[in-house]
Amino acid sequence: MSEQEQQEMSVEEAIAQRVQDAAAGDFGERYYKNEMLKSLDIEEFVPKATNIVQFIQPAFPKGYWGYLCHVHRWIGADNLDFTCLEKGGAGKGPCPICIERDRASARGDDEMKKDYRPSKRYLYWVIDLSEDVTINVDRVKLFQVSEYLFDQELLKRVSRNIAQPGGGVKAEITIISNPKKPFAVSFSKKGEKRGLEFFGFDLQEGTPFADQDFSALPALPDLINYQPQENLKRAVQYGTTRVQSDDPGHSDSDAPVNPEATTASLQDRVAQYKKDQEAS
Ligand SMILES: [Zn+2]
Repeated sequence: MSEQEQQEMSVEEAIAQRVQDAAAGDFGERYYKNEMLKSLDIEEFVPKATNIVQFIQPAFPKGYWGYLCHVHRWIGADNLDFTCLEKGGAGKGPCPICIERDRASARGDDEMKKDYRPSKRYLYWVIDLSEDVTINVDRVKLFQVSEYLFDQELLKRVSRNIAQPGGGVKAEITIISNPKKPFAVSFSKKGEKRGLEFFGFDLQEGTPFADQDFSALPALPDLINYQPQENLKRAVQYGTTRVQSDDPGHSDSDAPVNPEATTASLQDRVAQYKKDQEAS
């Protein structure tokens, strides 16, 4: 927008434009679907200095209690996050950021090679026991965190090597998400951003939740936001993705997360979300 155009706008119009820009800038530029979480009224778990959580694994006993994804972080002038379109079997076609990384590598640009390297992040469903020990589907929050800083530390705490009678060792893992015999995980956090650290992991008996129904929770892989290749290309070429997003879930409202408690069950909210998606 030119300076002249800006001056010709009324204050109201200028504010409306600013709000729209902010909403556009916020949308779809995370690697997970934060707009979907807002629609479903699911909060994000933000770790404090000390924490105690229980991990909910809806598909127990199958699989791991977290979902791993590969994310290119702080890309371009706008410092955006993008899920890698290739790594971890994403299968969304060639990843423009990985292509740029290969080019940087070929010309010996180690700095850019490092900047464009995807980092591993885990998504979990957790319940924050520091607030309340009640376990039910409406208290589940999304926790998304670095694999290196968090999951590796957690794994160290829940696994131990057992010496075998015939020699050798076998890793034994405490299944913290067993609904009949779960463990609560406590941990501490210090620092921010690049100085961030999680430590002091400990386990204690959790609250069993085998009688609770978590089937309304979306599958973690469905929360991953794979952006169109064009957006990734723009971010590495021009440092911006200010292009139209193709995600139909976008609304221009910049509503805060969990503005008020809803009375609809999560199951109803998921059904409504799907209906809205189909309608748009
Ligand atoms: Zn990539």
